[in-house]
Amino acid sequence: MSQKGKIGVTTENIFPVIKKFLYSDHEIFLREMVSNAVDASQKLKTLAVQGDFKGEMGELKVCVSLDEKAKTLTISDRGIGMTEEEIDKYINQIAFSGVTDFLEKYKDNANAIIGHFGLGFYSSFMVSDRVDIITKSYKEGAKAVKWSCDGSPEFELEEVEKADRGTDIVLHISDDCKEFLDKYKITELLNKYCKFMAVPVVFGKKTEWKDGKQVDTKEDNIINNVEPLWTKTPSSLKDEDYKNFYRALYPMQDEPLFWIHLNVDYPFNLTGILYFPRIQNNIELQRNKIQLYCNQVFVTDQVEGIVPDFLTLLHGVIDSPDIPLNVSRSYLQSDANVKKISTYITKKVADRLAQTFKDDRKDYEQKWDNLKLFINYGMLSQEDFYDRAKDFALFKDVEGKYFTMEEYKTLIKDEQTDKDGKLVYLYATDKDEQYTYIKAAQDKGYNVLMMDGQLDTPIVSMLEQKLEKCSFARVDADIVDRLIVKDDAKKETLEKDKSDNLSQVFRSQLPKLDKKEFYVEVEALGEQNQPVIITQSEYMRRMKQMSQFQPGMSFYSQMPDSYNLVLNSNHPLIKKVLDDEEAKNADALKPIISELKGQEARLAALHQAQNKKKPEEITQEEKDDVANTQKAIDEQRNKKNEILNDYAKGNKIVHQLIDLALLQNGMLKGKALDDFLKRSVDLIK
Ligand code: ADP
Ligand code: MG
Repeated sequence: MSQKGKIGVTTENIFPVIKKFLYSDHEIFLREMVSNAVDASQKLKTLAVQGDFKGEMGELKVCVSLDEKAKTLTISDRGIGMTEEEIDKYINQIAFSGVTDFLEKYKDNANAIIGHFGLGFYSSFMVSDRVDIITKSYKEGAKAVKWSCDGSPEFELEEVEKADRGTDIVLHISDDCKEFLDKYKITELLNKYCKFMAVPVVFGKKTEWKDGKQVDTKEDNIINNVEPLWTKTPSSLKDEDYKNFYRALYPMQDEPLFWIHLNVDYPFNLTGILYFPRIQNNIELQRNKIQLYCNQVFVTDQVEGIVPDFLTLLHGVIDSPDIPLNVSRSYLQSDANVKKISTYITKKVADRLAQTFKDDRKDYEQKWDNLKLFINYGMLSQEDFYDRAKDFALFKDVEGKYFTMEEYKTLIKDEQTDKDGKLVYLYATDKDEQYTYIKAAQDKGYNVLMMDGQLDTPIVSMLEQKLEKCSFARVDADIVDRLIVKDDAKKETLEKDKSDNLSQVFRSQLPKLDKKEFYVEVEALGEQNQPVIITQSEYMRRMKQMSQFQPGMSFYSQMPDSYNLVLNSNHPLIKKVLDDEEAKNADALKPIISELKGQEARLAALHQAQNKKKPEEITQEEKDDVANTQKAIDEQRNKKNEILNDYAKGNKIVHQLIDLALLQNGMLKGKALDDFLKRSVDLIK
C-alpha cells in the first residue's frame, strides 16, 4: 500500500519560506528533532507508569547517527512511535492560517515561529532536501509506516518493515548545509542543545587510543547528563556537587563564591541554580552566562529581558516551562509570568546575600571585593534591590576594614560633620597616588574610604541622593581644612598685594600641560603643612567621570581637568620666595604700583559717575576715558607681571616647589621631569 497526499497548510509552499526566513537560526533543527525523540521516549515511560503500556520497555535512548556517503543524519528513538493516523494528525495537518503573514512578522525570530505553530518537526526542512519518517507505534499490532517528503507540500506514505518500536527521522542533508554532515559540528550542537536532556542521547561510540590512533570502543558515546544537578533535591547535595557542576558548565572560570538552588512550583514552575561568580573588574566580560532551559532542553543564553540586567552577571541555569520562550523578546518582557519570575529571582538573590552576611560576616567580608561590583550594579539599577542591599552593602576603608553603611555613619558622625550639619564622607581612589592627602585626612582624625571600583562614581552620586544630608569628597578635592568646614571664622591671610604678587610668581612658571588647567591661590595652611598643594575640584572631576556613564553628559568629557595650586603662605619657603621677591623688586615695582593705584582709583571714580547716568546719556568722550584708563591699567599690570616673571624665571625654589607638587600628582613627565632631576642634583651638590 502506498499513498500520496498533500500536507494541510493553507499556503501553497511553506518550506521555501521556512528555509529563507529561518536561515539564521537553522541549527536549532537538531534540538527540535532530538527533543521530539526524547518526548516520545518519556511519553512511553509515562504510559508504562500508568499501566497503559505493558510491553517490554528495554533501554530507552536516542541515537544520532551520520552517514556521510548517503548524506543523511538520522535521529532514532524507541519511544511511542506513530501510527498512520497519528502521522496524518500530527505531521500532515499543520493546521493554521495566514502562515505567510506570520512568518513575515516574525522573520527575525525563528524560535517564535517554530514553537508557536508547532513547526518543530518542520524545521528539519531548513537543512534537508528530503525527510523520511520511519515509525512504528507501541500499540499492539501497529504497522510500521514510512512518510517521505521533499519539501514540497506533497508527501508519500507507505507501509514498511521495521523490527523495533519507535521512530527514525532521516534527514537527507542538502548540499548547501553540508556542515551538518560533519561529526564535529554535530558534536558541538548536541553539546549546546542536548547536554541535559532527560533521556540518554548517543552519538557514535566512545573512542580510545590504540596503536597510535583513535579507534571506536564498544561503549555508547552518551553526550548528555540526564539528571542535571538542578533537577535534584537540594538536601541531597553537597557543596562539592555544586562546585563540580559549575566546573562542568564553565571550565574556564574561577570557583564561584556561593550559589542559590531555585525550586518553585507555585505560582509558576521554575528550577535552577544560580552561582555568584568572582567578578573582578570588567562587568561587560561577565555577561550572558546564565543558560535558560525548558524542561532540560537548552533554549538560550541570552537572558536579558528575562531577568533584571544586574542578574545577568550571575552564572548558572534556569529551567522553566512557564517562560514563553517561543515568542519575541518584546513580548517576553511584558509577560506577567516573566515579571513574576524576575521579581522572585531578585528577591531570592537578596535573601541569599542577606543570609550569608548574617550567618558569617567574616566570610562575607572576604568575598566582598568580588561581590561588590555585582551588588553595586544591582543597587544602581534596581530600586527594590537597593532597598534590600543597603543593609548588607559594605564600605571598605583605606585600612581594609569593612563597615555597613549604618555602622560607617556612626563611626564618622562626630568627626566628619561640617558646620551646616552635613556629614562628609571622604574617599580615595588610589592609595599610593593619594597617600599624602589620605595621611593629612587621617591626621585630622578622619576616616577615608576606598572607592576604586568600576561603579564607584555613580554609587557615590546615588548615595548623596539617598542618604540624608551628606556629601562625598575625594581626599584631594581640597586642602584638608576645607574638605570639612567646621567654622566660619576666616583665618588671617596675606594682604591682597602680596598675595597677588606671589600668585603671579608661581602662575608664570607653571608648565603648559595638555588638557589640564591650574588656578593659583594663596592660603595660610600652617607651617607644618606642604608649601604647595595641588587639589582637584570634586565637582568637575565627578562630572567628567559621570559623562562616561551618561551619554547626555559628553560635554563634560571635553573639558580640561582643572586643578588648584594652593600656596601655603605660612610655609618658610613660600615666605622666603615672597621676601626675596620684595627685596629684589621693591624699587622697580614702587613707581608702577603707585601709577597703578592712581589709575585704578580713577577708573573706579569714572565708573561711579557713569553708573548714575542712563546708557544713552554717556558721551563718547566719557567712554573713551574709561577705555584709555583701562588700557593704562593693563599696561602697568603687564609691566608689573614682567618684572615678577623675570624674577620667578631665575628662582630655583619656585621651580622646585611647583615640580614637587606636580610630581606628587604624577604630572611631572618628560623634559620637565628631566629638568627637575638635574636641578635637584644641582641643589644638593
Ligand atoms: P511539538 O513537539 O511541539 O508537538 P513538533 O512539530 O516538534 O511539535 O512535533 C509534532 C508532533 O509530531 C509531536 O507532537 C508528536 O506527536 C509527533 N512526533 C514528532 N516526532 C516524533 C517522534 N520521534 N516520535 C513520536 N512522535 C513524534
Ligand atoms: Mg517538538
